[in-house]
Amino acid sequence: MTALPVLPLDPPDAEPRRGIAPRHLADLDPAARRAALVELGEPAYRADQLSTHYFGRLVRDPAAMTDLPAAARDRVATALLPRLLTPVRELACDGGDTRKTLWRLHDGALVESVLMGYPDRATVCVSSQAGCGMGCPFCATGQAGLTRNLSTAEIVDQVVWFASVAAAGALPGSPRRLSHVVFMGMGEPLANYARVVEAVRRLTDPAPGGLGLSQRHVTVSTVGLVPAIDNLAGEGLPVTLALSLHAPDDELRDELVPVNTRWKVAEALDAAHRYYETTGRRVSIEYALIRDVNDHYWRADLLGRLLSARGRGWVHVNPIPLNPTPGSRWTASDPAVQDDFVDRLRRHGVPTTVRDTRGREIDGACGQLAAVSAP
Ligand code: SAH
Ligand code: SF4
Repeated sequence: MTALPVLPLDPPDAEPRRGIAPRHLADLDPAARRAALVELGEPAYRADQLSTHYFGRLVRDPAAMTDLPAAARDRVATALLPRLLTPVRELACDGGDTRKTLWRLHDGALVESVLMGYPDRATVCVSSQAGCGMGCPFCATGQAGLTRNLSTAEIVDQVVWFASVAAAGALPGSPRRLSHVVFMGMGEPLANYARVVEAVRRLTDPAPGGLGLSQRHVTVSTVGLVPAIDNLAGEGLPVTLALSLHAPDDELRDELVPVNTRWKVAEALDAAHRYYETTGRRVSIEYALIRDVNDHYWRADLLGRLLSARGRGWVHVNPIPLNPTPGSRWTASDPAVQDDFVDRLRRHGVPTTVRDTRGREIDGACGQLAAVSAP
């Protein structure tokens, strides 16, 4: 693990004000950006210049936008490019291929995001909320509760920051162009629905209006908020949906994923299947394997039956070896039990691949983001 140098910090606010972040360029669609520039007394085309800097060239610092007159730069910087994220600490592992940043937001709230480099792609794992209100007992984020929703721009800016880190060649052995975004950091993205959907639009709109990522390369992971899954299917944004199931029976899922008391296993799976039918995108089922808790052979068979009964080719399963979290009594499954779990699902005709979770040594893997330990 390597601690990377960070920018000098202002002292954190003594009494942070919780609230919505200041408005930022990335909150606005291209038409609203032009209108905002005109309101500032600037020509509308400045909006395109700003978008080209921010989304096209990944320049976040107004001072570096030297094709704008200095006075315009100041006006625009104050009104549309406030600093949303201040890096507090950056950690790296896997020879620099996994990098986690802890951010302080304008009101003192803390969030984390993670960049992962692979031979064929560079992926950023973003946070959509500071904390999370869903209370899954095996997840570090869930333990502290929800602080607040992030704004659209606070989400987008995490990606733009890491896109520039990747573009600068920080990931040895990976492409320099950031290609994938997963909403698997802190928070439940579908509990911050409108802002997350807007963020996906900013990420996938063609450059320079947006970042120009492929919709297929964006994954939204949800604990299973059924009405929001149906709404997402209707957005015309065929992103990949991942459903965090973790148990195939309501009795256990009620405990592991408390929102199951509201939407049951069958309802969540039906919504995931409808998502597939509407978008044509194969859904992922996430299943953190917890020793002697949810890794029983009969649960693998039950899951296999539930998924194959809804059809073929619509789903695949990602078992995730449980990552340790502070104070948790649970551990990952025995490797032989994990192998048997995978084999059983495959025998039911369900494609299954164990997720390679990155960043355990820097507490940057699935479920470990907690943002509690500012230096
Ligand atoms: N709130 C969303 C997305 C963030 S969590 C969701 O729950 O889907 C991303 C994934 O990490 C989810 O599948 C979540 O269940 C899983 N996860 C949480 N804690 C974990 C842990 N300790 N070990 C392994 N996976 C974990
Ligand atoms: Fe929230 Fe997801 Fe963690 Fe559950 S697993 S507490 S939904 S972040």
